[in-house]
Amino acid sequence: MKKKQLLWVGLYLALILLPVVTSVLALRAAGWPLRPLWDDGAAALGMAGLAIVLLSFCLLGRAKPLSSLLGSDLLMQAHQLMGRTALVVLLLHPFFYSLWAAPAGPAEPTLSTSLRITGGSWGLFTGLLALACLLALVFTAIFRQRIGLAYERWRWIHSVLALAVLVLGVHHTLVSGRYAQLPAVAGVWALLTLLALASWLVVYALRPLMQRASSFSVSRLTRCADRIWLLEITPQGPHRLPFRAGQFVWLKIGHRWPHIDNPFSISNAPDASGKLQFLIKEAGDMTRALASCPLGTAVYVDGAHGRFDIPADAKAVTMLAGGIGIAPMVSLLADAVARQDPRPIRLLYADKCPSQMVDVLTLSGAANLPDFKLLRMVEHAPDGWGEQVGRLDADGLTRAMRDPAFGSLGNDSCHLICGPDPMMDAVETTLMRDGVPASLIVSKHFKYDFSGRSPLALRVRQGWWLTSGGLVLGLAVMLIWR
Ligand SMILES: Cc1cc2nc3c(=O)[nH]c(=O)nc-3n(C[C@H](O)[C@H](O)[C@H](O)COP(=O)(O)OP(=O)(O)OC[C@H]3O[C@@H](n4cnc5c(N)ncnc54)[C@H](O)[C@@H]3O)c2cc1C
Repeated sequence: MKKKQLLWVGLYLALILLPVVTSVLALRAAGWPLRPLWDDGAAALGMAGLAIVLLSFCLLGRAKPLSSLLGSDLLMQAHQLMGRTALVVLLLHPFFYSLWAAPAGPAEPTLSTSLRITGGSWGLFTGLLALACLLALVFTAIFRQRIGLAYERWRWIHSVLALAVLVLGVHHTLVSGRYAQLPAVAGVWALLTLLALASWLVVYALRPLMQRASSFSVSRLTRCADRIWLLEITPQGPHRLPFRAGQFVWLKIGHRWPHIDNPFSISNAPDASGKLQFLIKEAGDMTRALASCPLGTAVYVDGAHGRFDIPADAKAVTMLAGGIGIAPMVSLLADAVARQDPRPIRLLYADKCPSQMVDVLTLSGAANLPDFKLLRMVEHAPDGWGEQVGRLDADGLTRAMRDPAFGSLGNDSCHLICGPDPMMDAVETTLMRDGVPASLIVSKHFKYDFSGRSPLALRVRQGWWLTSGGLVLGLAVMLIWR
């Protein structure tokens, strides 16, 4: 893990533990008697779980400063994986209240007294309902495709369930949480709740409202390969969208409804005209409907997000693109041309057949770079095809790297990868096996629910285990210290 990422993990952990730490400090200051260890353990799990849920609203992948610092891939992975940690922690939370042991007192134990729930049946009700909503939220996120839930419908369901967990969870904590009765702890909950609601409102209410004043319109729409469109949009006014090459935006074409937008990488370089270009592959409803979109249609943009750029200190650059993964590479190449980048750059571009490939040289002007080579690889080669044939998997990559026409730049060059998941997995695995350090591999996925098996993907999961382990350790330290 890089130093910067470790710092963010530390800050994130500190925020998750903030309600527990504040509770311990406030408890000691108030001089309240200690409860049994299991009861306080249960309370600590509940607090940490709710803090993760609230902070997940900030890990939407649309928080611009965060996504341009850490990249949207990492943010969305953190959002998904920590959602699972929250579920486990919150499912354990009621059971730690010694469900099996009757609470002290003469009365027959009820579910509320067994769970040590104060604040009446409303506290119990909202707590259980929040847990049920969280279960449904995580289940539909993991099994969306298997249960045949359309992406757009899932996004609405996900948003409604997340807001329900927030409202019900915070109510349960404030009404039933023993330590939430301490003003300092209630203040921390108010702060985290405001942060979560503000993140949600900025993305789904404020930005759609502000988009009207900074709209674009379709100025060009041309088919540039089989099922691939070049969409160009021009600002309707003097406003400009600041972006760095390789970033992406969320597009709404012809409407401003929240939750109905799609992410696309910008495929041109920033320039004074403020125009944005995209290479869009037909995949489903929205992308297929693009063909009938008239020129002049209003387009609303949320961005720019993410981070996929050539590191300033890279000595040389090797780009590995599969299918529509070429889109951000075209932007990076056009930017390199505009900046007269003297560094050697190689592009390996793979697809099923030549008719599905865009003309990279014309779109980016890369032929004007001082040291640039392009090698294409297709699975179905026509007669007379003089470039690589096959899939961009481990063998394909090894063959391409040895091809004199490619002029490999070796393991010291920075490797930028974008394409379908199996290709990215194979390429990352092969590069790392062949000795390319992880710090010289920059990947960009076009899916949020990816779960690769490459050493790079496994590192992200190791980071998750590290964060979750750090959380358990932090909670244990707090319980001993209380
Ligand atoms: C950061 C990022 C950058 C991308 N850049 C490009 C690009 O430059 N060019 C390009 O052609 N495609 C790009 N994509 C993929 C593109 O967003 C989807 O192909 C498109 O949204 C499909 O929408 P649809 O309604 O046509 O298809 P649908 O039938 O709705 O979806 C087909 C599949 O696409 C995925 N998908 C749909 N909507 C979204 C969404 N809002 N967010 C993420 N995935 C979604 C889902 O896995 C879904 O199962 C990018 C995706 C991401 C996450």
